[in-house]
Amino acid sequence: MTEKQKVLICGDVEGHFKLLFSKVDAINKKNGPFDFLLCVGNFFGENNNELTPYKLGNKTISIPTYIIGPNRETDIKHYPDVNGCELSNNLTYLGKHGLYTSSSGLKIAYLSGVEKNKNDPKECTFNEDDVLALRNSCLIGCPSYRGIDILLTAQWPLGVTNALEDKPEFEYKGSKLISWLATHIKPRYHVCGIENIHFERCPYRNQNESEDGLDIATRFIALAKIANSEKKKWIYALNLTPVQKTRMSELMMKTTDETISPYPASMLQNNPGKKMEDKAQFFYDMDSNKDGKKKTKRPKMEFDQNKCWFCLSSQDVSKHLVISTGKEIYLALAKGGVVDDHFLILPIMHHQCLSTLPDNVKEELRLYKESIRKYYATSDRVPVFFERNFKTSHCQLQVVPIHKNQAPCLKEAFQEIGGIYHISIKELDVDLHEIAPSGTLYFYVELPDGQRLFYRIKKDFPLQFGREVVCSDRILDIPDRFDWKDCQLSKEEEFLLAEQIKAKFKPFDVNL
Ligand SMILES: [Zn+2]
Repeated sequence: MTEKQKVLICGDVEGHFKLLFSKVDAINKKNGPFDFLLCVGNFFGENNNELTPYKLGNKTISIPTYIIGPNRETDIKHYPDVNGCELSNNLTYLGKHGLYTSSSGLKIAYLSGVEKNKNDPKECTFNEDDVLALRNSCLIGCPSYRGIDILLTAQWPLGVTNALEDKPEFEYKGSKLISWLATHIKPRYHVCGIENIHFERCPYRNQNESEDGLDIATRFIALAKIANSEKKKWIYALNLTPVQKTRMSELMMKTTDETISPYPASMLQNNPGKKMEDKAQFFYDMDSNKDGKKKTKRPKMEFDQNKCWFCLSSQDVSKHLVISTGKEIYLALAKGGVVDDHFLILPIMHHQCLSTLPDNVKEELRLYKESIRKYYATSDRVPVFFERNFKTSHCQLQVVPIHKNQAPCLKEAFQEIGGIYHISIKELDVDLHEIAPSGTLYFYVELPDGQRLFYRIKKDFPLQFGREVVCSDRILDIPDRFDWKDCQLSKEEEFLLAEQIKAKFKPFDVNL
């Protein structure tokens, strides 16, 4: 299900195309097939004649090859379009900076050039704006951002040899902006060139803005120049599953050689240009103003039911996903559900969360839960209900069916995966509204046997946690479906699916 991708990476080619492509060809035949080759450092050299037969089509490049650059003034002429372009069949220049997602789902961020110094031409350098733009293209729109698979930079990050027991002796010209970038986008592999050094750092655990959050580890790999006389390593094979399709528990797995991050905590600040010595300001801390002081209070927003995505009266509600409508409650398909009949139970009027629902709404909710239970039972399945009252405004109870034989494992799965995030989910033995008065942030679960679990959210919470547990290998074993964005259907598909489920659910509908 989670297929490993094979990727080759190489250091500076410096015009030795014949050697590169014949070596790649041999490795690909012996250990392949590889999905692609990524080249860091200087691809072109003083003499680039060896590329001509590949450009003319007399020789072929056996696997798709992606390069970055230019990193020095003399190479600018080899790059016809700074925004990226094809240089010959199977040879692509990625561009100055950006995020490339391969067809297999690997996310590769790249930054060409070296950090700008006063008079350097901008074609072969990068500045604060470039790293900021690249950071944003990785993070924006990803509320549960975990990291990317590979970061390619020509230049090394400054300080990458810090926090090691045996600090290596060599010297290199590092960039602070790259350290900042790596701190923010958290690559699983960070690959560099141009120093003619082969160096693989022990993996370091990324830093996090929140206290109890955990982050993935990064492996830094620098490769030497191709055909170097000291026979230093210049080509390397990676075997990896895309971050987005890897179980969180696997990403959190520690290795014995793991170290702390080599970069100072001040790198977490939002502004790459700000003096890095400055006291760290938390990234994402929208409540802080420029001086780092808390604002008095954010004005409470007037609530507009018309703009709520889930109020049934709103224009924005996805009405085509609605399966059944009662007096106080409606039932809808979850957008990008983990399975076809993953439901949401929602109040028709605007209510914040389960714990504050009025009695008449609660009563109808109970009836809906019963009818769903009966509907799932026709296929030997039982419902898991969960609610995250955090970063939501309209109450939504998720309902995911699992096979009845899996039900006994659920509690442990919630607690075990919770443990990875330092979330201790406890059994609940009082009414929800008693433990969670209005304004309480929480995560709540109702297991198929009626047991309830509860966790009070303190500061942060993994937004897809409920989905991650039910999708885990111990329950549904569909780890690639835990992020709803990976499961989205087109509007037409959603429409068809809703029609099907509506027909199947009809005999159980409380209103009929
Ligand atoms: Zn609402």
